[in-house]
Amino acid sequence: MDGKVATWTDMTTAVVAVGGNAILKRGQLPTMDNQLQNLRSISKHIAAMVSGGYNISLSHGNGPQVGDILLQNEAAKYEVPPMPLDVCVAQSQGMIGYLFQQALTEELETIRCQRTVLCMLTRVIVDPGDEAFSRPSKPIGPYYTAAEAEQMELSTGCVMREDRARGGWCRVVPSPRPVEIVEAAPISRLICSGRDLVIAAGGGGIPVVRQDGRLVGVEAVVDKDLASACLAKGMKVDLLIMLTDVDGVYLEHGSPRERLLGEITADEAERYLREGHFYAGSMGPKVEAAIAFVRAGGRKAIITRPELLHTALSSKAGTQIVDR
Ligand code: ADP
Ligand code: MG
Repeated sequence: MDGKVATWTDMTTAVVAVGGNAILKRGQLPTMDNQLQNLRSISKHIAAMVSGGYNISLSHGNGPQVGDILLQNEAAKYEVPPMPLDVCVAQSQGMIGYLFQQALTEELETIRCQRTVLCMLTRVIVDPGDEAFSRPSKPIGPYYTAAEAEQMELSTGCVMREDRARGGWCRVVPSPRPVEIVEAAPISRLICSGRDLVIAAGGGGIPVVRQDGRLVGVEAVVDKDLASACLAKGMKVDLLIMLTDVDGVYLEHGSPRERLLGEITADEAERYLREGHFYAGSMGPKVEAAIAFVRAGGRKAIITRPELLHTALSSKAGTQIVDR
């Protein structure tokens, strides 16, 4: 024994991003009970991580949830004026954040780990000159017929695109890159106190642009993995962990030759990314987020499923991305 007493500053810090697919499994009805149930199972693994000596900030996806909020707005538009997308993202942060807060608090109490779980409405600054604003690409909200889509374009000025696979028309919005998380510093102070656990940057954050000295909300959505990396960089945490519904990152995913990647460097990851191993809307942004984080000085990025979190933290599961 060297007599060293552990202090909070000795603890490992991490941003843990939870995929929207883990909160609402494909094909599940989006009821509160279903989502709370899924969040409870995820929370078991996260609570164990926290009691194992990690100070963390959690982020989460919101794809299905913000889609449903938009649908509710659409269905009630003659009774209540619909809210713009930035407000809907804020609503989804509150809704998922609250359910997560409930689930996590229960799990932490069960294992007698003392932390207050806080949910922070989080804004993400984007560049109004980002080329994403001139080519909206992210499908969002309910599906419409061609006639409804035309009417929507005329009356609201939004951009609609046909999705043949889903058999309908859908609104598409810009997905600009995150520049900075406005609340990164206070989130960092809270988690470094060792007393609080923060849920932040839900749904990639509420996108805002700087305009005449103000922050103004915009109609866009930011990818939650890229926003989580942006938060992790801003907070200078040790680890960025992305929890999803696969064991890790695969080469030739979905083919009989697929193989799971263990520890790889950012350079290798970038080569595979360029070779097209990862789809743009799913694994691509996770790998990109991992590369950006470790190149900015982060110790390691991990991609795995919640059930493997514990094993992945000791480098025995999942895909581990390091700088070199
Ligand atoms: P999340 O809600 O967690 O962000 P996504 O659907 O965006 O989930 O991303 C996870 C999905 O990425 C997996 O379910 C998997 O089908 C898909 N995927 C695409 N390419 C790969 C790959 N190379 N390795 C592993 N998973 C991949
Ligand atoms: Mg995703």
